[in-house]
Amino acid sequence: MDTLSLLRTDIEKLRKKSYAVMKKAVGEKVYYRGLLEFSNICRRDCNYCGIRKSNSNVKRFELSKEEIVNIASWCAGEGYGSLMLQSGERESRDFVSFVEDIVRTTKEKTVSEKLPRGLGISLSCGEQSKETYRTWFNAGAHRYLLRIETTNPELFNKIHPSSVSLQKRKACLVDLKEVGYQVGTGVMIGLPGQSEEDLAEDIEFFKEYDIDMIGMGPYIPHKDTPMRDNRSGSIELSLKMVAAVRIAMKNINIAAATALQAIDPIGREKALAFGANIIMPLVTPAEVRKHYQLYDGRPCINEQTADSKLSLSERIRSMGREIGFNEWGDSRHWRC
Ligand code: SAM
Repeated sequence: MDTLSLLRTDIEKLRKKSYAVMKKAVGEKVYYRGLLEFSNICRRDCNYCGIRKSNSNVKRFELSKEEIVNIASWCAGEGYGSLMLQSGERESRDFVSFVEDIVRTTKEKTVSEKLPRGLGISLSCGEQSKETYRTWFNAGAHRYLLRIETTNPELFNKIHPSSVSLQKRKACLVDLKEVGYQVGTGVMIGLPGQSEEDLAEDIEFFKEYDIDMIGMGPYIPHKDTPMRDNRSGSIELSLKMVAAVRIAMKNINIAAATALQAIDPIGREKALAFGANIIMPLVTPAEVRKHYQLYDGRPCINEQTADSKLSLSERIRSMGREIGFNEWGDSRHWRC
């Protein structure tokens, strides 16, 4: 079945099919990546994003190396296995060295009997030069998430300032692959003017670029952005996209995106039932979380306490899913 027909399939049929494909291709285990948003300083002015450069209502922050490494150690102690370090986009030499340093130190400090290679580190710090990607890879990061956002060129240009180019983003994904990363990308679902055909094309793009992992979720408006008057993407279409990607790409990793939780309190858990196998519990400190509001209504739940993590784990287990504690949970697609 082609990808467009998949998106048009009855949702219950799609759920059953995608779950079966997931079970066969990657198994039912769910892997955790602690999501640490370590800085909201950004040079970009993306029309959809709450931390865009020109949003002067945002208080800018950057966590210290010590804070980051402490949180990383906490994640390792809790058995998370992997950490996702995300930030706004910056290119300065200081920033490149800072990220290199936190990756290297996190690796060193999280080696233990349970994690002989330390935490698995994923980065999501935007468009960078190939040299920078290599520097961070050599420091110990081995996965990188850079969303293409949409592959429709007109739509891409509508939601970005002219300084951001689809061609450049594609070139970055190629650079990341060549450096050796497991490469993740994704799109926003339900962007204004986006069609089902566009989403089907996005899936074709993921296949063409041999993507190892997908992180995608609904578009949700933010009040301080030029796109404030639009509607959010729906949970139904978001779940259908997860399922269609699973069926089309089989053995990749698919994250149950944090944004799903903003449109449905158990949106992430629902995505697991549609073929997702990665969850990213938010470990950004509560004091700065309010300054990393990419969209309105971002859940500020505290997953960093043992209690709430337990309830997330319990909810996952109650779905009959095992959690891969202390495992990196690398993309099988990348290993093949
Ligand atoms: N600066 C890095 C980058 O651009 O890849 C990482 C941080 S960026 C804020 C992470 C992702 O947030 C973007 O790729 C985008 O898809 C998502 N995002 C931003 N604003 C959003 C919104 N209003 N609704 C849904 N997702 C949004």
